[in-house]
Amino acid sequence: MFKENLLDKYKSAKNKLILLDYDGTLSHYTAFPEKARPTPQLLTILSKLIHKSHTKVIIISGREHFDIQKILGQLPVDMVAGHGEISRVNGVWTEQFVNHASWKNMLRSFMNRITLSCPNSFIEEKQNSLTWHYRNVSSGSGYYYSRKLIRLMEPVIHSFNLKILDGNKVVEVMPNEIGKGKAVKKIIEQNDYDFILSIGDDKTDEEMFETLLSNTEAITIKVGKGSTFAKYKLKNVDEVLMLLEQLSAYD
Ligand SMILES: [Mg+2]
Repeated sequence: MFKENLLDKYKSAKNKLILLDYDGTLSHYTAFPEKARPTPQLLTILSKLIHKSHTKVIIISGREHFDIQKILGQLPVDMVAGHGEISRVNGVWTEQFVNHASWKNMLRSFMNRITLSCPNSFIEEKQNSLTWHYRNVSSGSGYYYSRKLIRLMEPVIHSFNLKILDGNKVVEVMPNEIGKGKAVKKIIEQNDYDFILSIGDDKTDEEMFETLLSNTEAITIKVGKGSTFAKYKLKNVDEVLMLLEQLSAYD
């Protein structure tokens, strides 16, 4: 069982890194992203992990920095927001990437058009990305419109060097240079970790798993079903919390 192996490795390692996605990994999805608040259980587990010696915990989220700051900012934890465009180290936010985002106007008009034809879908705009969510739409029609949207956007994607993350009831567009994979690469280059645990549930996390694929110290875990670059899988948020609770109980 990989969990025992993981606990053993964690125990014997000298310099540990834990990279955690937030939505769908530490917190259950809710109908509206702004409602996803941390439970007391999660705050307790994270707080224990953060205070463990030789352990660096980094929350690596697609949310915007003020958003994730509102959710977990009270914890003394490093964070990466907007898939890597901005990060908080020792409480200070620093922008990693600036983009003038002229492509957003074009793509927003496509997304608006699709949203009008597909009730209960919605658009989320972040500094460097545009996202169309269809988690509140009946699955058949949501999927149908997501294909339509992707086809519409394709020419703009290519001419502006963007990428589409075709995720779990979500279609997200951002510049090619941004991503959790790039962010993680930077983090592991800055330090010599002999234990890396990375957990995530969605397409954006696949970049992180792919970056860590050749790293023999890395234990990558995908939450939920589907194909993945991660080495292991857990079923749901509850299993993630159980695992982190076990880790946090180690001395
Ligand atoms: Mg997620």
